[in-house]
Amino acid sequence: MSPRVVYRYVPHTIRHVPEGGITYEAFCTAPGCDADSGPQEGQETAQDWALRHAGRTGHSLFRRVVTDHAEVTRSE
Ligand SMILES: [Zn+2]
Repeated sequence: MSPRVVYRYVPHTIRHVPEGGITYEAFCTAPGCDADSGPQEGQETAQDWALRHAGRTGHSLFRRVVTDHAEVTRSE
């Protein structure tokens, strides 16, 4: 006998939760360079890293990632 999975529709809500924190990260996109700032708590820290990296290497294009946290709760 195969296991049965019962799906029941339950309304849920998703919302941003500040207590989960926000991280900022910058990735250098220059070919052959995989340098990145690592996740930073402040936007300025990630930007300062990009400025220093550009000054040191001449690399000028960065991909920026901002990560927040969201919580799902049942809304019934
Ligand atoms: Zn680079």
